Amino acid sequence: MPDNSFKTVTVIGAGTMGHGIAQVSAMAGMEVCLFDLAEPALQHGLDRIHANLDKGVERGKVSVTDQEDTLMRITGTTELDVAVADADMVIEAVPEKLELKQSLFRKIDELAPQGCVYGTNTSSLSVARIAEAVSDPTRVIGLHFFNPVHIMKLLEVVTHPNTGEDVLERVRGYGAEIAKTCIYVKDFPGFATSRLGVALGMEAIRMFEQGVASAEDIDTAMVLGYRHPVGPLKLTDMVGLDVRMHIGEYLAKELNNPAFEPPALMRQMVEEGRLGKKSGQGFYTW
Ligand code: NAD
Repeated sequence: MPDNSFKTVTVIGAGTMGHGIAQVSAMAGMEVCLFDLAEPALQHGLDRIHANLDKGVERGKVSVTDQEDTLMRITGTTELDVAVADADMVIEAVPEKLELKQSLFRKIDELAPQGCVYGTNTSSLSVARIAEAVSDPTRVIGLHFFNPVHIMKLLEVVTHPNTGEDVLERVRGYGAEIAKTCIYVKDFPGFATSRLGVALGMEAIRMFEQGVASAEDIDTAMVLGYRHPVGPLKLTDMVGLDVRMHIGEYLAKELNNPAFEPPALMRQMVEEGRLGKKSGQGFYTW
């Protein structure tokens, strides 16, 4: 049987998700190139990979040899042509904006090798619409990872009507190699995860806004009452209020459902830069 596994993976965007996707791919033995627009963002992503691995070693979950081997397999660049030149698969993890993802893939499509698979880590956007940007949409698939990527076991694989069977097969193998549990979901706004998660998150913010209970108590309601591992407000902090707000706006429009509309408090917090964990302040102080 031909070996169709991915040997080289390029990750575009070194933020919350991108650095983690790079890390798990390198830990599984793939050569990884991480790209971001500017040096500070790239370096921050690389530093976070180092820190994650250091913590893994400290906790006895990662051996020193694996740590060294993983780091050796990761390179970083701010030049897009260099980043994608040898890629078997490019996974984008840039902000949740359709036009941005489309224009990025349009550029990548001119630079990447023929047959390169394009994965998008979108949390909610139409994978088919993103795929319109490239010459061969059959190569595009949704690879929705969860935060923090090196810890969360789920990979939501999103297929649009034209996703190639061969691409799906290769991605199935990739999921197994990086030790994630894959679920397979159709290209419908919010897929299986974000649609449910964001509905709960928006309602929790509205409850907080209305003074129903404190953030801690709203979260504890779900943690102890419904056995959620983390409450909806803390999770919104962890994801990033800006990221969730964009998803909510998109789902409200696409599903024609006001339940997804970001509450006024959320908009205000985003405007003020209270984005959650990444900015140090959200519903909690981090
Ligand atoms: P982030 O803001 O933490 O990181 C985005 C990175 O992309 C930044 O480093 C930024 O410099 C870079 N970037 C911006 N424009 C770029 C461009 N044109 N080319 C290359 N890099 C560019 O965002 P994130 O939270 O990592 O989210 C990225 C994607 O992952 C979004 O689509 C989001 O919906 C999805 N996602 C996020 C989470 C989460 O918990 N944060 C979970 C699952 C999926």
